[in-house]
Amino acid sequence: MRSYSLIAPAKINLYLEILGDRPDGYHELVMILQSIDLADKIDLRAISTDTIRVHCDNAQVPADKSNLAYRAAELMAKQFPESFAQYGGVEITIHKKIPIAAGLAGGSSNAAAVLVGIDLLWKLGLTQSELQELAAQIGSDVPFCIAGGTAIATGRGEQLSPLPSLDNLYIVLGKHRSLAVSTVWAYSTYRATFGHTYTRNIQNLESRAQAVHSGSMVKAIIHEDGAEIAQKLHNDLEKVVLPEYPKVSQLRQAFQASGANGAMMSGSGPTVFALCTSLEQAQQVHQQVRQIIPDPDLDLWIARMCSGGIQVS
Ligand code: ATP
Repeated sequence: MRSYSLIAPAKINLYLEILGDRPDGYHELVMILQSIDLADKIDLRAISTDTIRVHCDNAQVPADKSNLAYRAAELMAKQFPESFAQYGGVEITIHKKIPIAAGLAGGSSNAAAVLVGIDLLWKLGLTQSELQELAAQIGSDVPFCIAGGTAIATGRGEQLSPLPSLDNLYIVLGKHRSLAVSTVWAYSTYRATFGHTYTRNIQNLESRAQAVHSGSMVKAIIHEDGAEIAQKLHNDLEKVVLPEYPKVSQLRQAFQASGANGAMMSGSGPTVFALCTSLEQAQQVHQQVRQIIPDPDLDLWIARMCSGGIQVS
């Protein structure tokens, strides 16, 4: 085959706890990540010139080397120069549905799709763990995006252990089109404000163990208890993003007032999601939040949790 189309799902964080600093400058994290069926479509086509080209139907997405999809193709070309020479270049077309700079790992998921697609295009036959090793060189969220589903992520987010899938739950997502939160800003502000609470000593470890509950979230997931999962949603980054972005805070309150089981900001925001145990409930929450915040700048989506990562369409 000379071309492939791939589905690249977004992710949300059901849980995000910052444990402390790492020598490599990243943070040591505990996250629970979940794929959702809000997804981009990525078309990959072999071309005769030995170049990498990126097109996207959203002008806000860069089409140059800074695009994570480009970086994924470049990494494959570097890693497998003989295949690059044999099969020629790659044209990548991104059909964007995932909002940009939204805390939903859109760019990471696009990069994961390019790794999976080039593996097929060049008939490399890489295993999932080999693809994930390459993915970690592009970004912390990229290995998760390859496998998708529900997983607990540690380290800087690249060490993954799968959890039972939660594809029977619905979420409503909300994002103000004009708002974007820089992930780098969110983590560096967190470090500046809460660095003193990092788990460098036992005293802090004990107090934080009481404050957070990744273990009880894992238990709720294993029991597929949607209502309990909603109670255990946690994101440390809310502590810095919500005070700085009142619209994000207001949206979170509106979700909670609309009958959702729980609401939380995803990743570094500004997307907020509400967790619902049925499609009917999600539709009601969607309608009610629209009434509470009639701002045309606010986009709302209903999505379903999904059990897989990158799929060939
Ligand atoms: P994360 O949750 O991993 O922090 P995000 O969802 O907040 O990611 P992205 O949508 O991946 O953020 O985009 C962040 C920035 O990366 C954008 O401002 C954009 O300029 C750049 N970018 C590079 N490649 C892509 C891509 N393929 N799709 C979207 N944005 C991209």
